[in-house]
Amino acid sequence: MNDKSHVSLERRVCLVCGTHFDTGSILLDKRLRASMERYTTTGLGLCAEHQRLFDDGFVALVECDPERSGSPAADGRLKPEQAYCTGRLAHLKRELFSKVFNAPIAVDLPCVFVEPGVIEKLQAMCAH
Ligand SMILES: [Zn+2]
Repeated sequence: MNDKSHVSLERRVCLVCGTHFDTGSILLDKRLRASMERYTTTGLGLCAEHQRLFDDGFVALVECDPERSGSPAADGRLKPEQAYCTGRLAHLKRELFSKVFNAPIAVDLPCVFVEPGVIEKLQAMCAH
């Protein structure tokens, strides 16, 4: 049985938690060939929950294992697809982020990758 179709539901992968989610968009094969699976993952995005946190002014800290992640690009930034996430997450208000890390954060940046131990330190700080 061939379950391919000329339409496909667009999905994206959440940058923060790695969940596949529906964008609500439908992709159409331009030549109307039955070339596509039921779902097509087109790239990275933010799931509903993390979009909401982003809109509320939070930045997500995603813990990555540097040993298992790919090497960062020339500008020192790690590409999301190369990051090996440990599954540990934290959310921090943007204004707090700039204070804690002593660095400004771009307003359109939904998440940053941090090394193991950073989230623990932060949680210890916030517990005081
Ligand atoms: Zn998410």
